[in-house]
Parts: sequence; C-alpha cells; structure tokens
Amino acid sequence: MKISILIFGSDNFIAKLPDQIHDANSFNLEVITNLNQAISRIQITPPDILIVQASCDGSMELCYWLKEQTKLSWIYCILLEDRSQLLLDRSKYGREWELEMTSIALREGADAYIWLPLEETDSASAELTASQNLLLAQLTIGLRKAHKYRDLIRTNDLLSAIALADSLTQLSNRRALEWDLPRQIQKARTNGTPLSLIILDVDYFKKVNDSYGHLVGDRLLQLLSNRLRQNLRYQDTPFRYGGEEFVIILSYTSCDEAVVVARRLNRIVSEQPFAINNQLSINITISLGTACLRMEDDVNGISLLNRADQCLLQAKAAGRNCVISCEKYFAHHNSHLRVVSS
Ligand code: GH3
Ligand code: MG
Ligand code: MG
Repeated sequence: MKISILIFGSDNFIAKLPDQIHDANSFNLEVITNLNQAISRIQITPPDILIVQASCDGSMELCYWLKEQTKLSWIYCILLEDRSQLLLDRSKYGREWELEMTSIALREGADAYIWLPLEETDSASAELTASQNLLLAQLTIGLRKAHKYRDLIRTNDLLSAIALADSLTQLSNRRALEWDLPRQIQKARTNGTPLSLIILDVDYFKKVNDSYGHLVGDRLLQLLSNRLRQNLRYQDTPFRYGGEEFVIILSYTSCDEAVVVARRLNRIVSEQPFAINNQLSINITISLGTACLRMEDDVNGISLLNRADQCLLQAKAAGRNCVISCEKYFAHHNSHLRVVSS
C-alpha cells in the first residue's frame, strides 16, 4: 500500500522538496493551500504524513488543530520553516535562538521542524540539500509510524471481529449487543427516531438435541441464523444472545412495525422446515417478545431488554410459536398480554 502525503503549501515550495517525494510509485501526493480545505481533506481521508509550509496562511493553525484531534494523532506532521523574517532573525540571533524557535514549533503541534535556507545567501544550496536530507530522514520516521499504525488497526479490527462474533452462527454475539445497544439508544434519542427490540427463543430446542444429537442442533442454529439474517432489513441487527436465544435491534422502527417484523420471522421459521442434510429436515417454531424504547428506559437498554424478555416468557406461557408485544401490555392494558400471532 502506498503512503499518502498531504502537502499544505504553494507550488514554489513543492519545488524545494527532494525529488524522492515525487516518486509516484512510493507516495500518493496531494497539495492543498487552503486551511479549511486541508482540514476537511484530513477528516475525510487522513494522510499518513502532513508536510506544512510555515509561510502558508494558516500553517500553525493546521499543526495546532491536528495536535488537538486525538483520533488523528498518528498523522506525522512535518513543519518546514521558510518565513523570511524568521530566517533572517535566525542568522542574526544564532543557534540558541534557533533551538528556542524549534522547541516552540514542536510544542505547537509539529512532530518535526526543519529550517529551509534563505534563497539569497551563498550557502543556500548546500543548506537546502542538508534540509532535504533531514526531511527524507523525518519522512522515514513518519513512514515507520504509519506502518505501525496500520498494522495496529488491522490487528485491532481482527481482534474486534473475533471478540464480537459468535463462532457457531457468525452472528454478532452478546458482547456485541452490549456494546451496540447503548449506542443505538443514544442515536435514537438524539435523532428522535423510534427503536425497537425483539427477543426470540427456539421452542423445545432441547428435544432436537435429545432426538438427533448436538451436531444436528448446532446445524439447525446455523440454518436458523441464516434465515433470520436473510429476512431482516439492512438496518436491523441480529445477535445470538446465548444458546437458542436471539436478539434483534430494529433501528428506526416503531412498536407496531416491530410486531410486523416479529410476526414475519415467526412465520418464516414455522412455515418451512430446516434441511439439515439430504435425509433429514426438521420443523421448529420460535416464540418472540417485542419491546420499543421509552423515555424512562436506561441508557444501556437493560430495562428495554428486560421488557422484551418478559414478553418472551409470556409467549412461552401462552403456548409458544407466537409473538407478544410488551408495549400494548404495559402501556395500555396493564392487566393482560397481547398475543398478536399464533
Ligand atoms: P423452550 O420451548 O421452553 O424454550 O424449551 P427449550 O427446550 O428450547 O429450552 P431449554 O432451555 O430447556 O433448552 C435449551 C437447549 O438448548 C438446552 C441446550 O443444551 C441447548 N443449546 C444451547 N446452546 C446450544 C448450542 O450451541 N448448540 C446446541 N446443539 N444446543 C444448544
Ligand atoms: Mg428454547
Ligand atoms: Mg432458551
């Protein structure tokens, strides 16, 4: 993968950079001179390395802004000093002053600070070569950092996938639900959109294991997971909650719509047997409880989950293979459950 470099500077400035930077096989180079454009570009597609021309308007703001972005702190920011007044002062005040200016620039947010020579001086050419070499050395550091960061992200993604997936069904697991549900609740509350939840459990699943063995039971859970997944909208997320129980978070979904979804799942499971192999097909049914988010629900979704679970228990008690909607029960009648399908 090529390393991307964003240059915040003018065309003149780019001419002073070492030739190696222009090697299209190694680097993706992009040049921007406007501060706002640079910021939005970095936010949308963060580069690995940022090279900043100090004399460009907004240069220090850009370095400072980047330093403040904790999620972008891995971008290596190299500030090249070409402001003529500072370069003149540098020759006037000497080494101590130069070191002081360097430490200020590093404190302001640059990871590296390199002085470019004033063009008029005799020694400019030699100093430019030295500065270019220093820049190449700093680029090597930036590249090392970018590689390490990418490896870290890749490993992190892999570990997250392992930690959040159920190995049998490939659905998201309970840990993923515990991570996702609070976020979905916060999003629904911020946007003022409805959020619903379904809990479902296979009826008499123990009998499947007892009759055909655990391997067949496992296969059935896989086939059931596939069927559930295939019959959900893209914004609905199924989770394996444990054993033969599943939770589905339905974003942007009202109580009534959740019941419609639950009834559909109830139907698609009971209407068609699951083909374990050429010789064996098994009919199963599921019981489902639905609940939708209320103002008084806690931020983690425990009360919401609990409400749906109570309805699942009631669906079992009502004879199984049915959907019970909590909302009608708790919100309106308070005395009986509403069996909406059987
Ligand atoms: P109910 O209608 O009341 O839900 O009855 P049930 O038999 O489905 O419920 P019960 O809780 O008595 O049994 C659930 C069974 O699911 C027991 C457990 O061994 C089995 N089970 C849980 N996880 C797995 C799994 O990953 N693979 C297999 N094969 N069986 C599992
Ligand atoms: Mg069960
Ligand atoms: Mg169960």
